Amino acid sequence: MAEKETPPIILQFAPLNSSVDEGFWHSFSSLKLDKLGIDDSPISITGFSGPCSHPQVSNHLTLLSESLPLDEESLIGSTSHGNRNKCPVPGILYNTNTVESFNKLDKQSLLKAEAKKIWEDIQSGKALEDSSVLSRFLVISFADLKKWSFRYWFAFPALVLDPPVSLIELKPASEYFSSEEAESVSAACNDWRDSDLTTDVPFFLVSVSSDSKASIRHLKDWEACQGDHQKLLFGFYDPCHLPSNPGWPLRNYLALIRSRWNLETVWFFCYRESRGFADLNLSLVGQASVTLSSGESAETVPNSVGWELNKGKRVPRSISLANSMDPTRLAVSAVDLNLKLMRWRALPSLNLNVLSSVKCLLLGAGTLGCQVARTLMGWGIRNITFVDYGKVAMSNPVRQSLYTFEDCVGRGEFKAVAAVKSLKQIFPAMETSGVVMAIPMPGHPISSQEEDSVLGDCKRLSDLIESHDAVFLLTDTRESRWLPSLLCANANKIAINAALGFDSYMVMRHGAGPTSLSDDMQNLDINKTNTQRLGCYFCNDVVAPQDSMTDRTLDQQCTVTRPGLAPIAGALAVELLVGVLQHPLGINAKGDNSSLSNTGNNDDSPLGILPHQIRGSVSQFSQITLLGQASNSCTACSETVISEYRKRGNSFILEAINHPTYLEDLTGLTELKKAANSFNLDWEDDDTDDDDVAVDL
Ligand SMILES: [Zn+2]
Repeated sequence: MAEKETPPIILQFAPLNSSVDEGFWHSFSSLKLDKLGIDDSPISITGFSGPCSHPQVSNHLTLLSESLPLDEESLIGSTSHGNRNKCPVPGILYNTNTVESFNKLDKQSLLKAEAKKIWEDIQSGKALEDSSVLSRFLVISFADLKKWSFRYWFAFPALVLDPPVSLIELKPASEYFSSEEAESVSAACNDWRDSDLTTDVPFFLVSVSSDSKASIRHLKDWEACQGDHQKLLFGFYDPCHLPSNPGWPLRNYLALIRSRWNLETVWFFCYRESRGFADLNLSLVGQASVTLSSGESAETVPNSVGWELNKGKRVPRSISLANSMDPTRLAVSAVDLNLKLMRWRALPSLNLNVLSSVKCLLLGAGTLGCQVARTLMGWGIRNITFVDYGKVAMSNPVRQSLYTFEDCVGRGEFKAVAAVKSLKQIFPAMETSGVVMAIPMPGHPISSQEEDSVLGDCKRLSDLIESHDAVFLLTDTRESRWLPSLLCANANKIAINAALGFDSYMVMRHGAGPTSLSDDMQNLDINKTNTQRLGCYFCNDVVAPQDSMTDRTLDQQCTVTRPGLAPIAGALAVELLVGVLQHPLGINAKGDNSSLSNTGNNDDSPLGILPHQIRGSVSQFSQITLLGQASNSCTACSETVISEYRKRGNSFILEAINHPTYLEDLTGLTELKKAANSFNLDWEDDDTDDDDVAVDL
């Protein structure tokens, strides 16, 4: 007991230390990217604390991944449930979008606002019902998600008592209590800690009766505890391990006690544990003088302190997770971030999940295939399969952007293999595979010995199309697109077609298959005139696909094009697919005309119009959109052809391959041709005078 004439000792409290688990920053990054965007409203978070049970984890307030709200609705005003070592403490997070706004935050006002909440909860009595509000904290932060670095600063607001609390005495609890009392207090504390109802209630009363029996009571029972008790102490879970200082939570506790019950001296009990049980040698009991100043009133919020020091200085802390993260994961995060930034600002309705989950099949891994794959990756598409039978030739790498000189030395790598390797090098998170296979073509007769292998290829192609969501037709001949066009129409898969002339290009999306309309469209409330299917690559033809490679000179056999065409057409093909994927009607979306929309950007379609065909020429630097409906005499997508394929299967395919006029006979094109006096259209021709093609410049 201190002598009365010695000057009062000011009670010193050990400040809290913030401890942020990496999982918190990972979860916060996801929340920021997926839900919050640029919204910088404050977020309710939950810190975790508990009685000290080890000197090395003393005075900690911890943030874990579960410190963040679980769903969007609970961003404000919810707390996680805790357990005995993770007692929840309500907190608030102010995250800024720039380092400048982080630096500009008015820290004094923010601290004051939290201190005011604590004071109001004391005055209203809320702190008696839910004592965790006495330990409110706040965090300001700036999350640099491009570099995975986080700057942050904690404050643990403490009301400043005036005059300050003076310490009368402080000693280990084991010395304060008699051994009989100590045994009973320990048992009562252990019961309190073991009960699910009270284990995370950090402030409580310890009442010891004259027969040395201890009980732990809720703060709101203070009045009921007045009477013949020999000892009544204000207990709290003390996160501190120091033998001569209580922890930080006692500050606001004393403010509550002084304001609520107007006591002059207080006995307090700093509850500490070892190995999960009450340890009265580590726990402290103290007596403090808490004289109420004459000027104090409920309306005036006391001053507050509490910004955490960083190694003794008033500066924020920072952490970088870049080094601790797997480089692949870093790459994925960075790629996702770029796409999400697009959604935050320019395209709020962009559905990125559709893009990351769509499976794309690229038929052809040449100039166009390389460009398409690269642009698909740019849009966040993760699943790409290549089909190609060629090898990387010496002339390829300069135009085919996935290959290097290394791929063509020796006998040359298969393009389908080299392209996969290249995608993985560019972005390791790609799910990609390559199939070395030639696509069977009509009008290229085969011997009976070849039949099995060709039909095997047909089956593989059919299976590949079935197992993907979108198919790109990027081969360098016209007839190699026939079977994939037919199979896509049959399976009702999205088909995107890109073809190059010398200085012109054509990019289009095929309409839905002929059998899809009756099934899918009747469920959609669409004007009847719009239910017409869009055409496929072969719909405008009056000649069936046939051998275009025989009898041609070298420059005609190879695709000799201006080098700028493939990047343009490949990019347009991908933009067209993204448009289809983001359109509510998907493959059934009608073809838009560029003239119908001024800016191509409105609320209904954030990406702009969704045309059927795009044709362009670099000799004129011009580009137009076209619309063509499906033709009843189409050799690839008409109902006649699809039902014949379904009926006859392999024998239909063999006949189409071996008999050049079979498809024309089947669809009536032969008759049409006779009528047109063998008028022949060049497939690379930009001629747009066909009756069923609408032209808009
Ligand atoms: Zn067609």
